[in-house]
This record gives sequence, structure tokens and C-alpha cells, in this order.
Amino acid sequence: MSAHPPAFAARATSVGGSPVREILALTERPGVISFAGGLPAPELFDTEGLRAAYDAAFAASAARALQYSTTEGAPELRAATAARVTARGLATDADDVLITTGSQQALSLITSTLVEPGDVVLVENPTYLAALQAFGLAGARVVPVPCDEDGLLPDALADIITRERPKLLYTVPTFQNPTGRTLPAARRAAVAEIAGRLGLWLVEDDPYSDLRYEGRHLPWLAAHAGAEDRTALLGSFSKVMAPGLRLGWLRAPAGLRRAAVVAKQAADLHTSTVDQLAAAHYLAAADLDDHVAAVRAAYRVRRDALLAGLREALPQGSTWNRPEGGMFIWARLPEGHDATALLKSAVAHDVAFVPGAPFYTGTPDPRTLRLSFTTHTAQEIAVGVERLGRALDR
Ligand code: PMP
Repeated sequence: MSAHPPAFAARATSVGGSPVREILALTERPGVISFAGGLPAPELFDTEGLRAAYDAAFAASAARALQYSTTEGAPELRAATAARVTARGLATDADDVLITTGSQQALSLITSTLVEPGDVVLVENPTYLAALQAFGLAGARVVPVPCDEDGLLPDALADIITRERPKLLYTVPTFQNPTGRTLPAARRAAVAEIAGRLGLWLVEDDPYSDLRYEGRHLPWLAAHAGAEDRTALLGSFSKVMAPGLRLGWLRAPAGLRRAAVVAKQAADLHTSTVDQLAAAHYLAAADLDDHVAAVRAAYRVRRDALLAGLREALPQGSTWNRPEGGMFIWARLPEGHDATALLKSAVAHDVAFVPGAPFYTGTPDPRTLRLSFTTHTAQEIAVGVERLGRALDR
């Protein structure tokens, strides 16, 4: 005789796995040209530079590289990160920065620090899937803010704050995942002003802004007067160095950062020492900006190849955007089409994308899809969009 152990926590069963991951698994078979992933191009990793950085970390002190370290992060990586943020126009000290295990962890830490079950979290609609999972696991009530093709609508945001009294707004203002959208400067100022006036935390998730192919950098929300004491800015080394390092960072006001440090102690004590030290050696020895410039040049060509191909592949009446950077193009098929149904036919033609539906809170737009252009050459992209056209009977 044995008694059942008690049930899982409700939160563990209320949040499903990511359907994007399931689709990615399906498209990993050889020969598929996939626009589904959101992965950096592996052939562009600075493998030799990173190998040398790991060697340097071991040579400097293997005892240190292999030992436990502080929760806040390696001082030299915090300092180098702060210097990069400062160079982008937001004065930042090493002490303002917490190194995290990917920026995904920063999202979890901020969520467990701020969100109680039942609290309202505002999001763009559609938004990043793993953020929806983090908020779902915390028991948040996720409320979408109306958006247009440039992102959040500030007037609608102000109305919803007054009505819902949310804890925080989660936003990816630059080259958003999944839409590639970028919030214009005037709207950034408006969002910052509204957050200050109506009382709201801002979680500004920015893994993509370094991947800008044209146009000028826009200021972070965190850089606006009125937002500096209420904005958690999340950054990542995944798209500029390598995602396998699992290195991200959080820049937050002191009180919020200290609470996040306690949450991190409970989560993983600290981010891998050897990876942090290797990244710090890399930043000291190599020119990350030079490396990112080369990555940007390659991605820009790939973006343009996808844009050119979509004109031929997608049916009349389809629309799509032209992001100035990032990894994603967002498309919308004409009336009567369903991107999830199309995916089956696309996979049969050895091409894949992600339907937009899972990224929505509430009613999804079934005609939308996300296409990533980073992991294939321009030639492969041309073949891929031609297959997509055939899957669509073009
Ligand atoms: N935020 C957004 C919007 C993302 O697209 C991603 C990665 N796909 C992350 C956060 C997490 O990135 P990482 O944990 O690798 O830093």
C-alpha cells in the first residue's frame, strides 16, 4: 500500500510549456530552413576569442574561476557592464548592476520580488512568451495594453493603470520579440512620464538594441527623468556574445536590486563564476563592439533577403514590418488565413516559422506569424521563402 504524494502547486499546472520550443523540436530535422528560432547565428560566435578568454580566466586563477563567488557578480564584469551602459548614455556604477544567469533570470527575480498572486502585470500584446510564463508562475493577472505597429499606446496605458492598479509594466521597447517593433522616442518619454505620475514599476527588457542595422539608438526608458527610480533595465550577453554563456544583467534602483539579490540567493546563489570571469576577460581583451559590428553586417543582409523574399512568397493582402534591427519580422496574412494551419503545410515543404497566436494575451490574431532571419544565409533564406510560397500555394 502506498499513498499518493500531495498534488503539484496550482501554478505548476496552470502554465503550459512553450509551444515555440515544441515547434523548434519539430523543425530540427536536417534540410528544414527554419525561420522559427530566435537563435544567434553560431558561425558568427567569436569561438577563438571566447576560448582564449576561458584560458585567461583559468590562467589568472583557476582557484577563483572554479570557486563559489558573490551573488551580485564578479566585480570586473559588473564594472565592464556598467561602463557599456554608461557609454550608451545612462550613467551607471558597477554597484548598480546585478549579474544574472541570462536576462531571463532577471525577469524571474524581478517577478518574485514584485508580484504577489492576483497582482496585475501589464504587457504588450503580443509579447515575449517566457515573460508570460514567468508572470503566470507568479500567479499574476496579465493584462494586455493596446499596441499599434509602433508598440504601446501611451493613452491606453494611462487608462488601464487607472482602472487596474497594476504593479508593473513589462515592455521590450526595442526590436521586440515577437514583433520586431520599436517604441518611438516620444512614446518612451510618455510611458516614463505616466509611470512616474501614476505610480508603476517599469521592467524594460532590452536584449536586442545592440543589433541595430540602421537608424539611431533611442534612449532607454530608464534614462528618462521620473523613471530612474522605478525602472528595472534588463540586458543580456546572449545576442552579442553567446547565449550558452547564460549571462545577463539587471540595473535597478538600490532597494529593488537588493531584494532581487535575496531572490537570487534562493534561486542559484550566484551566476557561474568561470563564465563571468571569461566574459570579463573577453571584454578586456577583445573589442566586443567590433565583433557586434560584424554580426550586425551579416544580419542586415539576412533581414534584407527575407524582406525581399516575402514580397514573392506571401499572398496579396499580406502585411509585414521592416524592423531596423533585432532578429524578427512580424507578418500578417490576409483575411481567412490561419498561420497555425499554414505551419503544418510549411513543415511538409521543409520550411518553418512560428505562428503569432501563442504570444498573445487574450484573443490571439490567428493571421500573424513571426519570422527570424538570423540563422540562415541570404541564399538559404531565398530558398526558404520560395518553399513558403509553395506551402501557401503561390
Ligand atoms: N527577453 C527577451 C525579449 C528575449 O527575446 C529573450 C531571449 N530570447 C530573453 C529575454 C532571454 O534572454 P537571455 O536569458 O538569454 O539573456
